[in-house]
Amino acid sequence: MLSWLNIFRNRLTLLFGGLLLLIGSLLFSYLYYQASDKIRQASSDALVSIGRTNANALAATLKEREREIILLSKRPVFSQQEVNTASIQSIFELLQSSNPHYVWIAFVDPDGKVLVSFNDLLLGDYVSARPWFVQAQHAPYLGDVHEAVLLAKQLQVKNTDEPLRFVDFAAPVFNANHKLLGVVAIHADWSWVKVVLQGSLPHDAKEQGLEVYIANAQQQLLYPYASISQLSLPKALPASGDSDVIRWPDGAEYVTSSFDVNVPNSAQLAWKIVVRQPVEKALAAALELRTTMLWMGSLAVILILSVTYRLASQMSRPIEQLARVANLIQAGNERAKFDISSNLQEVKSLSASLQGMTSNLLSRRQALSEINSKLEEKVQERTAALEEANLQLQRLSRRDGLTGLQNRRAAEEALQHEFLVLKRSGTRFSVLILDVDHFKQVNDKFGHLVGDAVLIDIAKLIQSSVRQTDLAARFGGEEFLVLLPDTIESAIKVAEKIRLSIEAQTFPEVGRVTVSIGVSGARRADESQDEVVHRADMALYEAKRAGRNQVSIAAGSF
Ligand code: GH3
Ligand code: MG
Ligand code: MG
Repeated sequence: MLSWLNIFRNRLTLLFGGLLLLIGSLLFSYLYYQASDKIRQASSDALVSIGRTNANALAATLKEREREIILLSKRPVFSQQEVNTASIQSIFELLQSSNPHYVWIAFVDPDGKVLVSFNDLLLGDYVSARPWFVQAQHAPYLGDVHEAVLLAKQLQVKNTDEPLRFVDFAAPVFNANHKLLGVVAIHADWSWVKVVLQGSLPHDAKEQGLEVYIANAQQQLLYPYASISQLSLPKALPASGDSDVIRWPDGAEYVTSSFDVNVPNSAQLAWKIVVRQPVEKALAAALELRTTMLWMGSLAVILILSVTYRLASQMSRPIEQLARVANLIQAGNERAKFDISSNLQEVKSLSASLQGMTSNLLSRRQALSEINSKLEEKVQERTAALEEANLQLQRLSRRDGLTGLQNRRAAEEALQHEFLVLKRSGTRFSVLILDVDHFKQVNDKFGHLVGDAVLIDIAKLIQSSVRQTDLAARFGGEEFLVLLPDTIESAIKVAEKIRLSIEAQTFPEVGRVTVSIGVSGARRADESQDEVVHRADMALYEAKRAGRNQVSIAAGSF
């Protein structure tokens, strides 16, 4: 995640995309809130409106019924001395034909006896105990809906499960002296309510889940009949003319509105219209809007992200190209060029600067490396010369200037080396010490230069008598040392060979010259190389003493 964020274009995408998304979601939430609020309000208003329309329609028809019964009661035909059955009958028939829901229309005398009735229903029967008769003796009466009591058996049962239910309208008939002559009554089939209500519902009420109920003062359902035993109203309904989202006893939530029916004064009832619609139906438009907005939002997100990613890529591409070229150069590809294609002035300028800087650095490096390689060559040359000089010096420092043999220092180093080898590995070595016999006399007789020439010749003779591996050195004035990494026996032979070669030589001007030689072998018990030299010296001394021109071997050398 972190490495993903460390990429410039991703960071830009996240920043811009995130910002746009944030703004978009805020806008989305605000618009959705506003729209759904409006939709909710609109659906509440619609429900209230349906409630109001129904209540008004119901109130209007009730008023009409009341007016009708009052007008009927005031007709002169009821005030005649003799009951004019035929006239009343014809009025009743007219009335019924204008309103087919009027199931029973009757004129009842003050004792409660039915004097005239539509279709002669209950004719002659006493209805004095019926509430409508009791009440309507004094004033017009409008009773609550009830099931048919007396008429149920006599009327044809309709083709429904619904029992016959009536709303009773009744009014007193008085003569001029305000004496009660009787009561006119109409029993209206309650199903007219259905006609009233259905007329004021939208045509797609069913699809919308809209349901309209009528309840009485005790919150008992009166309509529709099918719901009476199935459904009960919520305890708390919205105030009349209001709507609210309410959980009904069936467990579901409904947008619910209620409206009191403005009943006429004579009515002994209090009806309430309750309209409900399931919340999901009421807010279906809002939910649909949300789905649409979510789809559009998702599309917008994809669009925004891809556009911001493209933009971010465009912005970061020059930097990435610069970095790639820089990497190539770092990896050694010095021909890589910073020619980045971009319209941006800053990028062009940066690209040119980097190119300039790189070329500069590269040419400087080139120059530096040339200087370095020359310097190196020179150093090598000088080192070789120095080494050569050193070697020369070393050679010179170990050479005897007159004879060209090794000098005393070289001889001592070789002695020390051989002594160490003997100590370590037991490899023995032998030492010869030569001294020219009566050399003082040569000098005295022939001069120092002739003496030197003799010394040079003797040195040559010694050198030619020993092997490459042996060491011949001038040890002192006219004294020589030969170191033989070998046994004493062969050393004696070499000593004799040298002595003989010198004895046999005729030296220019001087003639014959002899040498005495002391021979000694190194021993492991020796404490230093000096001991073997000392013993050879002793042997030389012995050779001199014994008459010169001879080889003498140090005691204990075998
Ligand atoms: P012996 O050794 O037989 O006892 O007699 P000697 O005459 O050789 O005696 P000694 O060894 O004492 O004398 C050595 C002489 O060698 C003394 C010196 O003048 C001479 N001498 C030493 N070095 C050189 C040199 O480099 N050149 C010459 N020409 N003479 C040298
Ligand atoms: Mg000497
Ligand atoms: Mg001598």
